[in-house]
Amino acid sequence: MKTIAIIPAAGQGKRMGTQINKQYLSLLGKPVLAYTLACFEKASDVDGIIVVTQAEEQQFCQQEVVRKYGYKKVIDIIPGGKERQDSVYQGLIKANRMGADWIIVHDGARPFFQEDILHRALQYAQTHHVGVGVAIPVKDTIKCVNKAERVMETLLREQLRAIQTPQIFPCSYLMDAYEKAYAEDFYGTDDAALVERAGYPVYLIDGNEENIKITTPWDMMIGEMILRRRLKECE
Ligand code: C5P
Repeated sequence: MKTIAIIPAAGQGKRMGTQINKQYLSLLGKPVLAYTLACFEKASDVDGIIVVTQAEEQQFCQQEVVRKYGYKKVIDIIPGGKERQDSVYQGLIKANRMGADWIIVHDGARPFFQEDILHRALQYAQTHHVGVGVAIPVKDTIKCVNKAERVMETLLREQLRAIQTPQIFPCSYLMDAYEKAYAEDFYGTDDAALVERAGYPVYLIDGNEENIKITTPWDMMIGEMILRRRLKECE
C-alpha cells in the first residue's frame, strides 16, 4: 500500500507579522518546515512526501530545506492555491496520479508532532478503513455567538475536541470529498470536514498538546521551549 504525505506550507503567515513565510523562520537555527519534514522522512509508514509551497518559494524550499537537510522522500514541491484547501487539493491530485492508497495531510507549520502518534493514527485508519484525525480535548468553555456577540449557545465541553493534523484518509475518500466540495463551492477549515460532509466515517485519536501550529510570535517562543526541553531529554 502506498502512503503519501501532503504537507501544505503555502500560507502567507500574516499573523506572524514577518516578511518571511513562517514555515521558513528559524527555530534554534533550523527552519520550522525542516522539523516537520524530518518526522515524515523518518516514519517507516510513509512512502513519499509532497510539499505544497508558494510558487515563488519552490526553489528556496528545495535548496534551503529539502536539499540542505537531505530529505530523500520528498517526491515533489508544488505550488499551492489561495486557501489551504486549494493547496491540499493540488497535492492530492498529484498523489492520486501517483497511485497513492492512503493520504496523510499535515500542516507544514506543525513541527512538533511525533512519529508514534502518526503511526497510531495510520494503524487505526488502515485497520478500520476510515478517516482519522488527531485531536485534543478542549480546555476552555466554547460558546456560539451571533454577529452582535450575543451568546446563542454554550456547547458541551466533554463533546468538543480541538483538531490538529495529521489527518489520514483513504485516497479515494479524500478525492471524492474534494471533488464534491468543489462542485458545491464548499470550503472547510480542515480536510476531515470535507470527508465527513461527503458521508465517510472520520474518527479521532488523542494527540499531544505540543503539536502546536506555529502562527504568532508567541508560538515561536513556545516552540523554542519545546525544542530545548526535547534536546535536554536526549542528553
Ligand atoms: O493559515 P494556517 O496557519 O491555518 O495554515 C495551516 C497550514 O496550511 C500552514 O502550514 C500553511 O502554510 C498552509 N496553507 C497553504 N496554503 C494556503 C494557506 C495555508 O498551504 N493558501
